[in-house]
Amino acid sequence: MKGLKFAPVVVACGLFFASPVLASGAQVEKVAEDPGAYAEVVALLEREAASQLTRHLQQTGELRQVSVSIRIDMKNRSMMVSFGPGYLPGPEGSYDELFLIPMASSLRFYAEKSGLDVNDIDFLFDGKTLEEYYPEDLAVPPQVQVRSTQTSALVSASHGYISLHPGREWEFQRPAPLGVQEDTLSPAYGDELQGLIEQRSGLTVHRARSRSTELHPESGKPWEHMSSRYHLKALFPERTDMWNEFPNSPASAREKDEDIRARPNYANHLGVDVMLSLHTNGSESASVRGTEVYYHQEKPQDKPLADSILCAMQEIIRAQPGYQDFPIRESSSAARHGENRIGTMPSIIVETAYHSNPDDVAALQDPVFRAASMKGVEKGYRLWAAGKTCEPLALHPIPDVDVLVQSSRDVGLGYTGNPQYPLAVELSLTSCSEAGACTPTTTTFDDPVKPLAITLACNGPGSGVVRLTAVLRDADGVATAPVEFAQACVRG
Ligand SMILES: [Zn+2]
Repeated sequence: MKGLKFAPVVVACGLFFASPVLASGAQVEKVAEDPGAYAEVVALLEREAASQLTRHLQQTGELRQVSVSIRIDMKNRSMMVSFGPGYLPGPEGSYDELFLIPMASSLRFYAEKSGLDVNDIDFLFDGKTLEEYYPEDLAVPPQVQVRSTQTSALVSASHGYISLHPGREWEFQRPAPLGVQEDTLSPAYGDELQGLIEQRSGLTVHRARSRSTELHPESGKPWEHMSSRYHLKALFPERTDMWNEFPNSPASAREKDEDIRARPNYANHLGVDVMLSLHTNGSESASVRGTEVYYHQEKPQDKPLADSILCAMQEIIRAQPGYQDFPIRESSSAARHGENRIGTMPSIIVETAYHSNPDDVAALQDPVFRAASMKGVEKGYRLWAAGKTCEPLALHPIPDVDVLVQSSRDVGLGYTGNPQYPLAVELSLTSCSEAGACTPTTTTFDDPVKPLAITLACNGPGSGVVRLTAVLRDADGVATAPVEFAQACVRG
């Protein structure tokens, strides 16, 4: 065994996901089987919803009690929130989506904490959906056929300043309870996503808001902080149908309602293949947190795109040091955002994290999280567009190998998943039959077309055995679970 030298050079491939954090099935059954516990949870949720609505109405100067009843469908993991008479949001105020959708998120959070697993939440107003009250305005436009080769995307990053009527004060659209302003934070996420889509997907990317730092003359604010509405007004002054849909509205924040519609109107004008909207979410409860992706309830064909994006975001975010347990929903959620409804192309909203939760706020300000989350959005889109499935990166088992002393042998490596090149295969030593005779190695692999193969060498004259652990790591930091195998150096 003297002079034994293995110099195993290896390349392998694989991906692995951390398992999701969700209410366990056992818990759900427990609450579901106990009518008393179930009724208690539902009563608490009803009370929470009613008090959120009361506060919301108070903010608009109305003192009113509206009854709320809630039903949970355990089989479909859905919740129906029914408001009694006295509350019917309309087009002015964008059907209260900036109130109702965060309310849904907090009800989902409380339901799951109580062991009731809820994904989709919908609302009834005195027994009817909003679509029944406003069939024309809320109709989903006919969808264009998804093209097999996609060429362009609209990246729409949140809100921005709007002008309030009648005083014409300029205000951001979103609250910033912890100092992070969604209106100015999201555009940096948009820049990141734009670059990734251009480089990795090869698409032309349009933006809904200006990125110019020059001043918008009317407000004196930087263009990059303005809502899409004003950007589009400058680009297309004649196209009032695009950015000025409510000229006669009495609502003070009518330009906010116009802005929500202006972004998908622009997507339709451009005829892009996909519309990706980036937001951060907010909740009355600081405990609500994590990544969510939404598609429109009446456009279920967009769900696979939303799920693919969520899956890839989970893969890449959780691969980053410190983010292994970052909360990310397992499945996309159906809702009724105007931003997702109006586009004639697949349209989804990414709520990257909550600007009302301290841990999420720390993540949102971290360039590592920003890059990882947007890599996930691009990858999820790209896999969906290519008809590929988002699946964990995993190395196939590697058989034990015999190698003749003073020779080498190539071993092909199989994997599942969709790694981003270049790849690195890291071989570490589990054991070596002669101390100091075995060497750990890392090999990089640049060509996605070439099959992955590792070269295992026995450079010394002696025989012996090394047990090796192979890990495949991709350019985004996604790594496989370790795969162990043995290499024996044998005499012929
Ligand atoms: Zn937003």
